[in-house]
Parts: sequence; C-alpha cells; structure tokens
Amino acid sequence: MASPLPRAQPFTINAVDGRARSGALRLPGGVVRTPAFMPVGTQAAVKALDPTDVRSTGADILLGNTYHLMLRPGSALVERFGGIARFMSWDGPVLTDSGGFQVFSLAARRKLDEDGVTFRSHIDGAAHRLRPEDAIAIQQQLGADISMALDVCTGFDAPETEQQAAHDLTLRWLPRNLLEFQRLVDTSNAIRPLLFGICQGGFDAGRRERSAAALNDHPVDGLAIGGLSVGEPKDVLIEMLDASITPLDASRPRYLMGVGSPEDLWNAVALGVDMFDCVLPTRVARHGGLYTQDGRINIRAARYREVDEPIDPDCDCLACQRFTTAYINHLYRAGEILAQRLGSIHNLRFIGRQMEEMRSAIQRGDFEDFRRSFLQRYAPVDPNVRHEQRRLYAASTRAQDSTA
Ligand SMILES: [Zn+2]
Repeated sequence: MASPLPRAQPFTINAVDGRARSGALRLPGGVVRTPAFMPVGTQAAVKALDPTDVRSTGADILLGNTYHLMLRPGSALVERFGGIARFMSWDGPVLTDSGGFQVFSLAARRKLDEDGVTFRSHIDGAAHRLRPEDAIAIQQQLGADISMALDVCTGFDAPETEQQAAHDLTLRWLPRNLLEFQRLVDTSNAIRPLLFGICQGGFDAGRRERSAAALNDHPVDGLAIGGLSVGEPKDVLIEMLDASITPLDASRPRYLMGVGSPEDLWNAVALGVDMFDCVLPTRVARHGGLYTQDGRINIRAARYREVDEPIDPDCDCLACQRFTTAYINHLYRAGEILAQRLGSIHNLRFIGRQMEEMRSAIQRGDFEDFRRSFLQRYAPVDPNVRHEQRRLYAASTRAQDSTA
C-alpha cells in the first residue's frame, strides 16, 4: 500500500446539521464552499457559456473530462498553456474525472484487462491505452486541482459477476493511482492538488459498504461515490448512496459523481454528501427544460408564448432579470443560440441558489425544514418533458453524447 499522503488538511467542516455538513475545501485554484455543485466543462468549456457566465451562477469549481481532453486537444497541449483553468480562462479550481466513466460507456469500443483498459477514440477510431498510472499522469498534465483515481464502472443492468469484478478491480487499482500521484505531486505544500478515491459496488448494499470501508483505509484526500445514477430508480439510488456513505471517514470530503437533479441534491446532502457534478442542468436547458420552484417546465410549450414575466420571479440570473418568459419561449422555438445560453445560465443559477440555501440552512440548523419545503413544492418532472428526459437519458449513456 502507498504511504500516507501528508495531511494537507484542505477540508474544514464549519457546521453539521443531522448528517448534512457545510464547509470549505482549499485548493490551489481557490476555495470551494460546500455543499458544492460543479458545472461540467466536458471539453474545457461549459456548453454555451463563457467563464463569466459560469461564475455568475455561484459555481466555485468546474469539472473537466479527461477522456475528451486527452483525445482533443491532448493533455500535453493543455499543459503547455498552463493547465485547463488557464487554457479556458477560468479563474478557479478544476476537478478532472479519470476518464473511466466515458471509456466504460464505450462498451464495444473497449477491452478491459488487469493492467488497464484499451479503447478506440470516438473521434478517429485510434487505439488508446489507459492504466491507473496514465489516468493520473494525464490529469497532472491537465493541471487538475482534484484528480480522480481510475475506477471500473458498470451499468444498472450489469450482471452480478460483472459488478463484483468491477468492484474488485477498482480496489486493486487504487494503490497504483496513489503511488503515481505521490510520484508526480509535490505533497510538501500546505495547499496542493488532491487525489480522490472512488467507491463502487454496483447495486448490492453489502458490497457498497465493503467498498466504502476499504476505500477508507487508503490515504486518499477525498472519497467519491461512483456508479450511481446510471438508470436505477430513485429509491435504489438513495439506498445505495446511504450504504456507501455510512462507513466513510467523516473528516474527508465526499463527492457523489454524476448526480444533479434538484431533488437528488437535497436528498444526498441530507445523507452527508459535500460535492456533486452533473451534465443534467445544462443538457436539459439546451433542450428547453428549465427549473422553477414548482418543478421543471418545457419552455417551448405554447402556454408560455405570451407570459409577460420572468421564468422565475425570485431568480437573480441574467435570463430572469432581463427577459420575459414569452421572449425566451420565442428564442427556443426560433432555434436562436441565445436560448441555449440563457437557459443554461438560468438552470445553473437555480442549482447554485439551491446550494446557497443548503449551506445557509445547515449553518442555521434548519436544513431538514428547508429540504421538506423544497420537496413539497418541487415536482421533479413536468409530464410534458418526461418523454424528452427518457430520450436524453438514453443519449447520455453513450460516451459520444457527452460532447453533444
Ligand atoms: Zn433565472
């Protein structure tokens, strides 16, 4: 096993309310207030937005995708431009995923063995090799404030033997990730890049608990829960999250990967999650699904054609401060690209406001009251967009679509 990373003490918990926590994570690129939502900048850009737009939504940190950036423009080029944050002119920290999720979504285009995974690029079909050591080295070239260990992901419908094998290999790979990280990162600095390990385990609560307990034993800086929100029902997601999170060391930050619908955020923070990322808010926004306090609406619907008020009168985003619902409905129906920018700003600001409310409620000690009142009012999905959501989900499970 790798020797312990020097205690960077990057994470401070300022308030605890039930199992919910609020704190701050100190990174080379800046401080992240938690609970935190990370907008996804798949290819070093949050689609349709510039960094000023993203900052205006209240985001402290972005996520970048190793898979996409290693293929295009290449991690060596990003390194020459000073790392991903400098390359994209984002004045803040960036977390990079390991590339594992996208590679494992490629299904027919990849081959897994004990040492790593070989896959073909969705761009030009070229063969690439990704081992834990490669994933860490690429993330260091990208200049990640937080790197993720390479893990093995499975879907909700994966056979039991495959889920067990993914869990086992993820744990066997973890020390290799750690050793390479320790070789490349100067761990003597008080504020330094961090490495997070990932708990897998599929959809068996006992295996989830064992995976989390094993992860605790490794000197990683943060603890991530992976392999959820891959098509399972919501009650299963919550059950597996609960099983994963209960054994985790409370002093380290906990990151729930790929989960980000508003109701999921409230429920997961209630169980003690500190960080999230998800393409959902921006992806549904580009298709006209906009968040309101009452639930998600389809802004393209005819009933919004003549509405002479903002999408959400309480929202302080650019779209709501300056434009009517009728105008934004028109932009979507006319196919104007401004629609995608305004919709994405609004949805990320809606999520940003939820995170602000959660942090304040935890500090005041009335988180549970606010969670209940949010969930009572917020209807998860407008029936008009349910079909669209299914279509988008099917698309999102294909790696190529994470650029769409
Ligand atoms: Zn708004």
